[in-house]
Amino acid sequence: MRILVYADNASWLKQLRGLADKLEAEACALVFDGNLVEEASRLFSRVYYSSLQAFNPLQAAHVAAKALEKCNPDIMAAPCTNKGRIVAGLFSALSGGLPVSDVISVEAEGEELRVKRLVFGGTASASLRVNVPAVLCVSPGAMPEATYRGSIGVVEELRAESAGGIEVEFKAREAVGVEPDKADVVVVAGRGVKRREDLSMIRELAELLGGAWSVTRPLAADYGWSDTWIGISGLSIAPRLYIGVGVSGQPHHMMGVRGAKIIVAVNKDPNAPIFNEADYGIIGDLYKVLPVLIRRLKERGA
Ligand SMILES: Cc1cc2nc3c(=O)[nH]c(=O)nc-3n(C[C@H](O)[C@H](O)[C@H](O)COP(=O)(O)OP(=O)(O)OC[C@H]3O[C@@H](n4cnc5c(N)ncnc54)[C@H](O)[C@@H]3O)c2cc1C
Repeated sequence: MRILVYADNASWLKQLRGLADKLEAEACALVFDGNLVEEASRLFSRVYYSSLQAFNPLQAAHVAAKALEKCNPDIMAAPCTNKGRIVAGLFSALSGGLPVSDVISVEAEGEELRVKRLVFGGTASASLRVNVPAVLCVSPGAMPEATYRGSIGVVEELRAESAGGIEVEFKAREAVGVEPDKADVVVVAGRGVKRREDLSMIRELAELLGGAWSVTRPLAADYGWSDTWIGISGLSIAPRLYIGVGVSGQPHHMMGVRGAKIIVAVNKDPNAPIFNEADYGIIGDLYKVLPVLIRRLKERGA
């Protein structure tokens, strides 16, 4: 079997190389970021690369079509990130491969794949038999990260056609510091945080721990306190440490946190569902707990 993977950061390159190794598949990689080319060539024998000015889906489609033609894969894989989902959609439209999202495991059985994916907002998993060509959108943390190969792969630059009149404009968003999906520690504010200005406590805690901060969907989509959020309809994260502050722990949110190694919850309601998933829980009012936590971390020099 042959697999073409698209990845948008180094960790995803390693995770998707891990998937290829598991399937004992010949693997090519496609990247749209020049900074990833060297990393990709240490993991894949062939790397297709195109430097897109901005992430223009039409240009991405042209490049993906060229990469598909050259690699001729049975399986296409991408991360369950915002861009990864777009590229998976392109792969599927261009190749006719069945797209399967939120994949947590894959086994090859002859010409078929046995795929497990999350369903019902991440509360259950379903097993499917999928024929190739197939397009897999992989959940964070589901695949082991591969190590570098001894050799360096061949890099081929694919020219992006003109965007056909479509212009993609990127607006700077409020400074978020470290991006949550790249951070080792992520502190997330939920609706227990009552005022926008109280997010300063969340930011301060995240900074002291050298991590990133984010919010649940209501704080972003309803109150407009952030452009992004964590969960099934937002970002998926796999940090070493997740701290949910005033977060109830509904499945739609927790699905985005599945990859976290340690989950800590601060919530005043002892029956909050997040405590069913937390490794450590603090039952208490966040307005009392956080100032103490922040003070103690400062005393210890974080
Ligand atoms: C299709 C769909 C997709 C969705 N996608 C997402 C998603 O991607 N991400 C997401 O987050 N949500 C998503 N949601 C919404 C999700 O179902 C929940 O409604 C949301 O996650 C709840 O956010 P919350 O925990 O901040 O708020 P709440 O559920 O209101 O919880 C607030 C918590 O704060 C606690 N609290 C209150 N005051 C304090 C205090 N002073 N100190 C300590 N604790 C306190 C309360 O006990 C409560 O547990 C989605 C919903 C739908 C229908």
